[in-house]
Amino acid sequence: MVIAIDGYSSTGKSSLAKKLASQYGFLYIDTGAMYRMVALKVLREGWINSKKEISDDLLERNLPLLNIDFKRTSDGKNFALLDGEVVETDIRTMEINDIVSKISSLTIVRSQLVAQQQKMAIGKDLVMDGRDIGTVVFPNADLKIFMQADADIRANRRLLELRSNGNFNVSLEEVKANLIQRDNDDQARSDSPLQKASDAVVLDNSEKSAEEVFKLVSSWVLEKINT
Ligand code: C5P
Repeated sequence: MVIAIDGYSSTGKSSLAKKLASQYGFLYIDTGAMYRMVALKVLREGWINSKKEISDDLLERNLPLLNIDFKRTSDGKNFALLDGEVVETDIRTMEINDIVSKISSLTIVRSQLVAQQQKMAIGKDLVMDGRDIGTVVFPNADLKIFMQADADIRANRRLLELRSNGNFNVSLEEVKANLIQRDNDDQARSDSPLQKASDAVVLDNSEKSAEEVFKLVSSWVLEKINT
């Protein structure tokens, strides 16, 4: 069984996906973390300049050599692994937020990561979250959910996440502007833009608690399991 969760930034896709994976014993794959890891590598190696121009040549040559993976602990926690290093906190900073949509718009990056995502899933029950899971990565997914929420609520959630990772010199306004910019960029790109799959269920969680969302989606999962 494949559950595809797509939607706007900071709508709670990862939190929902993690809970579903742990409840039903599914593999969880956070595809946003994979794009963030490429962005971190680009930033660390200086393959991008202050105008956000990327050295395609360097990226093209080095991308196939990157080792993007996840470490999973026995208590169900996931950690992003870049070339063997745990980078879970390093990929969730404003510097990465600022460039990740630019990186993820590149076809060379998307084609490598999508192929890896499809391979990671072979023979597994899984829940995957991102922007193009129901449209491109798994167009035949058993259950497709498209998440949205009010921009102010999303900005508050992202700010809390940033603060819990030790990023205190960022304002709510900056976080909100970045979310909106990223959503616009993700929707406007030509390769695999963020859009609702025609057969996805829209879930607006502006007024719902994480627990309510989980219960609702759980009922859909059980319905699929029992048919
Ligand atoms: O989900 P998260 O906010 O971590 O994703 C970071 C960025 O990665 C998104 O803004 C988007 O540009 C990119 N992304 C993507 N396709 C996916 C998942 C994420 O383009 N499947």
